Amino acid sequence: MRFEFATATRIVFGEGTAATLPELVRGFGVRPLIVTGASAAHAASLIATLPAQTFAVSGEPTVELVREGTLLAHKAGCDVVVSIGGGSAIDAGKAIAILATNGGEPLEFLEVVGKGRALTVPSLPYIAVPTTAGTGSEVTRNAVLASSERGVKASLRSPLMLARVALVDPELTYALPPAITAYTGLDALTQLIEPYVSARANPLTDAICVDGLSRVARSLRRAFHDGGDRDARREMSLASLFGGLALANAGLGVVHGFAAPLGGGFHAPHGALCAALLPHGMAVNVAALRARAPRHPSLERYAVIARLLTGGNDATADDGIAWVRALCAEFGIPALRAWGVAEADLPGIAEKAARASSMKGNPLPLTTEELIAALGAAH
Ligand SMILES: [Zn+2]
Repeated sequence: MRFEFATATRIVFGEGTAATLPELVRGFGVRPLIVTGASAAHAASLIATLPAQTFAVSGEPTVELVREGTLLAHKAGCDVVVSIGGGSAIDAGKAIAILATNGGEPLEFLEVVGKGRALTVPSLPYIAVPTTAGTGSEVTRNAVLASSERGVKASLRSPLMLARVALVDPELTYALPPAITAYTGLDALTQLIEPYVSARANPLTDAICVDGLSRVARSLRRAFHDGGDRDARREMSLASLFGGLALANAGLGVVHGFAAPLGGGFHAPHGALCAALLPHGMAVNVAALRARAPRHPSLERYAVIARLLTGGNDATADDGIAWVRALCAEFGIPALRAWGVAEADLPGIAEKAARASSMKGNPLPLTTEELIAALGAAH
């Protein structure tokens, strides 16, 4: 057996830890760029204690937006970058921190749609403070950017992009509304399932996924119905963090393969797309494994997932899919058509998904017909 598990991020977790942010930032620099989501409320205390430049990100980050943020960091002489927000603010901050030291042009370095040149210079010190529980982006080494011309999402990726500190304070998630709790929580669930069945899974990511899956199983429903449930919020913040560590080391699969072109072509939150696709992505993989690779180890792994999610000792892979489907129905997860995806778009999305970097982690290659059928079921 050979495997690698890497993270160079210091993880600080716990209720109230956000209060230590100003002190943490001062350990890295004196002129922070603070990248926030649409609301800068969570950043107010830091802005009050340091001469900070702020950059607000509304919606998911694009090539143009991070180019603009990198220019701002240069003009303001920023020496440390802090993201306070959901996955969009974190990916934007991470991209700005690495581009600020590598020349500033995202298309030079983007996978799939850009030149894919290697990032070679260490990024500005970067601190991630998530205010949602889902993306795990605080511990991943990539930033997903949309390219408006190409209608697809692609990543900047390098170990040099890892945050120096991930400051995860579950209290920052208490005010999240139910819909965002559902979307981000189901993204976290997807990011625990896909690395667990991935072709690149290893014993360390397995342990993280199994633990994370049981936390989601007992807490996501509670966090959705009662946002003030502190235990459930803590569990979901941990599950999100675990999903990030798992995906950064074991990769993803078909659901994220689809999410790349869908997120690039339609205005839909990443978590909402993953939620709509998850039960169908599981079902297509299980059916393909049964048909073409009945002794594949990932098939038994889908049964383990089912036992963790349902709590039933004899649960089968199908029971796990049914559990996820029921959860999506309970949360009112919209189908893909609700985001403007037309039936005629599906073959093109399937074709782009087959080339997406996440698809490489899928337990087995899927045929074009299987990909289109899974999209159709989610549509
Ligand atoms: Zn995701």
